[in-house]
Order: sequence, then C-alpha cells, then structure tokens
Amino acid sequence: MREHFELRDTDAGGRIGELTVPRADVTVETPALLPVINPNLDTIAPRRLAEEFGAEILITNSYIIHGTDDVREQALEDGLHEMLDFPGAIMTDSGSFQLSEYGDIDVTTEEILEFQHAIGSDIATPVDIPTPPDVPRERAEDELETTQERLEIAESVDTGEMLVTAPVQGSTYPDLREEAGRHADGTDLDVFPVGAVVPLMNDYRYDDMVDVVAGAKRGLGADTPVHLFGAGHPMMFALGVAMGCDLFDSAAYALYARDDRYLTVRGTRLLEDLDYLPCSCPVCTSYSPAELRSLPDDERESELAAHNLHVTFEEIRRIKQAIRAGNLLELVEQRARAHPTMLDGYRTLLDHAAQLERSDPVSKGAFFYTSSESARRPEVLRHHKRLERLSVPQSLFLTEGQPARGDEFDASWRVEAPFGPFPRALSKSYPLTAEVPERTDRAALEAAADGVARLAETNPEADLTLGHRGWPEAVLERVPDDVALIDLTSE
Ligand SMILES: [Zn+2]
Repeated sequence: MREHFELRDTDAGGRIGELTVPRADVTVETPALLPVINPNLDTIAPRRLAEEFGAEILITNSYIIHGTDDVREQALEDGLHEMLDFPGAIMTDSGSFQLSEYGDIDVTTEEILEFQHAIGSDIATPVDIPTPPDVPRERAEDELETTQERLEIAESVDTGEMLVTAPVQGSTYPDLREEAGRHADGTDLDVFPVGAVVPLMNDYRYDDMVDVVAGAKRGLGADTPVHLFGAGHPMMFALGVAMGCDLFDSAAYALYARDDRYLTVRGTRLLEDLDYLPCSCPVCTSYSPAELRSLPDDERESELAAHNLHVTFEEIRRIKQAIRAGNLLELVEQRARAHPTMLDGYRTLLDHAAQLERSDPVSKGAFFYTSSESARRPEVLRHHKRLERLSVPQSLFLTEGQPARGDEFDASWRVEAPFGPFPRALSKSYPLTAEVPERTDRAALEAAADGVARLAETNPEADLTLGHRGWPEAVLERVPDDVALIDLTSE
C-alpha cells in the first residue's frame, strides 16, 4: 500500500481517494483537477483558484520557471507557494514535452529534481520521454528504456518530503504501457502520470486513449494515484475517471478562453456562435453572450476562463457524486452521447469490463439500462460469472413470464434482459433490481441469451427450458441447442 494514497470509494474503475502531499501539508481529494498556471501569464490568480473555485492543487512548469531569469530568481528566493500565492499543493512538470519539442535535454535527472525541490515544489516530475502515438515499436521500446533508467535515477535522489512522479510511457502499444506501469509501480516513486496522450485527445482518438490507459492500469497496482497528463476537457473526465484516473490537469480553461472558446461538458462552443449561455455560473448569470463579446480582450479572456473553470470543477464534483451514488457509468454513457468519438471511447472502455469489474462494488443503488452499451457493463459480466457458481436442479424452467405450475419442473427461475436467468430469491439484490425499458433492445436480449448459454454450458447434465417473449431468431441462436424453447407470446 502506498501510504500517501487511500481509496475511499469505488465505482467501475473510478474511485474517490485521498492524496496526502506531505511537503504542502495538505490532503487532496481525488478525482482532482490541477489548473495549469503559466508563471508568466496570470489568467486567473492562484489565490482565486483556491478561494473561489476550491482548487486544492495546481500544476506549473518548472522548465518555464528555469528558463525565465527573473521568475527563476524569485522562485528560488521566495519559493513557489509565496511566489504564486497559493495555499494548496503545487505540482511541477519538468518540461519533458517542451524539451522533446524544442531540443535536447541539457540537464540531468538529478539537477531537474533538485531544481524543483529548491523552488519548493510538492510533487516533482523527472524528465521522461513522451513518445508520441504510432511510432515504430522499436522506437517506443528504446525511449521507454531511457524513461525507465531516469525513473531509477529519480528514485535514488534525496528529495525529502517532496513526492516524485513516475510517468508511464509506451506510445500506442498497450503491452508496453502495461510493462511501463509495472516498472513504475516497482519503484518507490509516488504519483503515476500516463504520458503523451495529448496527441490522441487532439485527434479525438478516445478509443486508443482508453486502450493505452487500460494497459497502464493493468501494470500499475490498484493503490497508485494515476494522473491523465494533459487531459483538461471536462467532456472526457467521466470516461477518464471510469478508467481509473485520479488527477487531471487543465490548461484548456485558459488556452480556450484566449481563442473565445467556451467549454461545456458536451464539447466546445465558439462564443460567436452562442445565442444563449447554457450555464448558471457567476459569469454566465452576469452577462449575455453579446455582452461577453463586447468586453475588452483581456477582460473577456478572464471571464471566459472563469466560466471554463467553473464548468470543469462542476464536472469533477458531479463525477465524485456519481461514484458515491454508484452511477458513474451512467454519467459516462451520457457524456458518450455528446460526440461519436466519445462513444467509441465508451465502447472501448466496455471492452475492458472484466478489468473494471475487479473494482466495481458488488452492491449499489440501482442499475439503469439507458443504452445498448449498458448490456456490456461490468455488472452484467459479473452476473454471468456468478451463474457458473449457482447450483441448478435437474429440470429447470427459465422464464420471462409466470413460473411453471404443477410438477413439470423442479424449479422456475426468472429471466431478465440484460442479465439472463437467476433464482427468484435473488430478484431483490443488485443488479437484478435494474430498471430496464419496456421496449428492450437487441443488445439486452443477446446478453440475456448469453446468460442462458453460460448456465447451460456449466450444467450440461441439467434439463433447461427457456420461456421467452418472442425473442428474434438471431438472439435464440446464441442459446445452445439442448435448451428447450417455448415462445410465451404464441401461447
Ligand atoms: Zn458559465
């Protein structure tokens, strides 16, 4: 167990946790948003981030601080907390991205960590190599090896109470991400950013992003705090949290504001296209779109940045509440409807349902079947696994309708889409209390048929009869031949 990170609650792969940051003497509740602060540009003052928006942690770039003479001197003299005037925890990025873009690294891992320590960082980052997507495997492997060597050096540097991150790289090779995750978890470093996913998000490749993060998560232990590095759009936070990410950083709130872009949880809008402001934050209740547009540039930028942050923090709170209530995947489902590529991301997440199932609570409030994707949720998978362990009488009637009368069968079990069969005694237990639409869809029936098949395959000696309400032929084909069929709608 990593002593500075504790899990409080889980739902699917998502969790509410507490990250203790000893050097700042603060505990950050996760999932947490880290606003990115550019020390040279003060879009929204850090003090305001803490007091008005409730930011417990922020992130700034030590590479920019190091490269700007007066800022560097001030940071070394006063420390980051005083320089930025921020009471929470401060994480620093090493500038790996900038270094990879603009040239070679002329500092050692020791130097870069010692510099971050000297300016008073609470969570520091070594210089890793952010390998972009789709590179040849050999390059991804070589660069990962370099990153891993640097992590091992970072482990040996005396950084006192400062936490140090261990970035997980590996490009778009899930197996390399898994290996990188396992290696990082084997170090005594503290926070685990999944790196170089920004190009995937910029290209709306949420499906590939999910595979990459799922790979990293398989390698990392369940008790490691995971940072989805560079993921700042509130539209994808729920998906990121459901995968098991705990920390998100947002430069988007300020960068988008600079271009008159207005963030929503359903995507980005241009201020010029808005006739109404679909938000109730202090900015959106004070101005009309026309009034916002007519503000002087710097004022408009600051107001838009404030709106963008309000939306962003609001979504983090909504996600935490969803984890508490046990309906995180229903929130992901809603967000997935905002953009086809988000739907690809959600469908890919469900490819990893078995991985999510391990941390998904056995019992929650209610299961709402709200889309055909619901049929692939971890709860359905778990019920199908459970069917293998239930004891089955010699002759069993599985029915969507009334139980059998007389002594034709030893027992009757209910059948409900998307779960399939279960003994009546379980009908009051989660997830079998699910709310499912009357107009069931094909995916739900197929999942129910798969449940019947699972029961039949585990109990080849039992005589099973399925009473269904007019299931289509293609659904019935999923049920093994030795299960007798009765169409209840034709009786
Ligand atoms: Zn607003």
